[in-house]
Amino acid sequence: MIPVIALVGRPNVGKSTLFNRLTKTRDALVANFSGLTRDRKYGEASYQEQRFIVIDTGGLSGDEEGIDAAMADQSRLAIEEADLVLFLVDCRAGLTASDEQIASFLRQRSKPVMLVANKIDGLNHDVATAAFYELGLGEVHGIAAAHGRGVTQLLSDVFDTLPTLALASNSPADEMALDTTEGEGLQTELVEHELAPSEDAPIAKGIKIAIVGRPNVGKSTLVNRMLGEDRVVVFDMPGTTRDSVYIDYERFGQMYTIIDTAGIRRRKNITLAVEKFSIVKTLQAIADANVVILMIDAEEGIVDQDLHLMGQVIDAGRALVVALNKWDGLEQEHKTYVKSELERKLRFIDFADFHFISALHGTGVGHLYESIEKAYQAATDKLSTNFLTRILQGAVATHPPQMVNGRRIKLRYAHPGGNNPPIIVIHGNQTDAVPAHYTRYLEKAFRKALDLHGTPLRIQYKSSE
Ligand code: GDP
Ligand code: GDP
Repeated sequence: MIPVIALVGRPNVGKSTLFNRLTKTRDALVANFSGLTRDRKYGEASYQEQRFIVIDTGGLSGDEEGIDAAMADQSRLAIEEADLVLFLVDCRAGLTASDEQIASFLRQRSKPVMLVANKIDGLNHDVATAAFYELGLGEVHGIAAAHGRGVTQLLSDVFDTLPTLALASNSPADEMALDTTEGEGLQTELVEHELAPSEDAPIAKGIKIAIVGRPNVGKSTLVNRMLGEDRVVVFDMPGTTRDSVYIDYERFGQMYTIIDTAGIRRRKNITLAVEKFSIVKTLQAIADANVVILMIDAEEGIVDQDLHLMGQVIDAGRALVVALNKWDGLEQEHKTYVKSELERKLRFIDFADFHFISALHGTGVGHLYESIEKAYQAATDKLSTNFLTRILQGAVATHPPQMVNGRRIKLRYAHPGGNNPPIIVIHGNQTDAVPAHYTRYLEKAFRKALDLHGTPLRIQYKSSE
């Protein structure tokens, strides 16, 4: 599982500045929920190849009423979702009463906290951080988020702490209520297990499918559909905000595991203690899946959040199938409009299948499986060095790369470098100078020759010069 780190502190201590530095953010995901005044921002970051999720929160004043109360809710949710909290304070402002209130608020949660004193630039580290030891939260990590000072050290400390946490917090997963009476007529065998962050990931028996999308696009409805007509096993999932439900099942002899980010909800009277939609769950599910079904609500058209989610799937290198849901009952005019939107906004995804479905009525759902299988095959097929090299040489012969400094870029051979996503490693000379458009040309050639459909493809270069 990807670790999750929440940034907490009063306004103006530099949380956004640190968030931006960590995520170099281009595509922050914003949790949008009606009724809440300030959103949480989610971004992905990495430290020494280890990816992690950062959550930025509006800020806690320590004295929460009115608008502050809503902001505090955001922080609370972020803290709940996090493995570790970075509590930011401001060296220039010194220790404030709010800081003390937040510290006691944090002490009440049983979450690991690291105290970070920001804006240390131009100050003596020991002098500037001394006052904050009074908060009783252990070591004070001095940083300057705006300039980067101390940030690498901070991450190093964070990652030293995280593995210990995973061992220490061996908390049992929340109990789930199993309603067997509704399981009658069950035709597939469903085995459900919750993935607790502290446990080893379950060994999936088949193709792992994550169903992701914004709130209300129809994820739960689709999960129920995919598991089969009326084959509803009801697990009411109380509890954890961040753990998806993993459901193993079999269809025509093929094993699948659905990673259900929405939670199958059937009984009307469930009061969900937790938010229905969780970005952490979504990002974790994408990371853990072989194939992602990205659902879009065709009634609403394609919105930014859909594109951001799609960006996450591509960044993670996962095979992708796009399902435009609620296709039932749409006016012809609206259907035409949605299709033109697809043309316009999603032209950059030329490798994925698009399906127009109705999860509610089941229309088109069976066909999703064809795309899932195809994408999975493409993402995981073994590639041979020989074949890759022949494709490379053919492509280079048809269109040689340009001259750089009077010498030709030489691309000699290619070999597989990994699966899901497939990685093709190309060896040659001056590969640093290969222009992006030439890489795209090669990618096309590989895709065509290998019949790679439904998965992102990565090309990496190794230069012998
Ligand atoms: P937030 O409200 O906690 O998200 O705080 P911001 O990230 O918006 O920062 C508040 C102010 O502090 C801004 O004016 C930043 O430029 C400034 N700031 C942030 N980090 C640093 C830093 O490392 N050093 C200094 N001197 N100023 C900083
Ligand atoms: P989730 O939040 O993504 O899990 O979305 P749900 O599965 O809970 O669905 C949200 C709402 O959309 C519910 O009222 C569903 O009945 C409705 N819905 C889901 N799929 C379809 C569909 O294919 N067509 C129509 N018309 N409504 C749908």
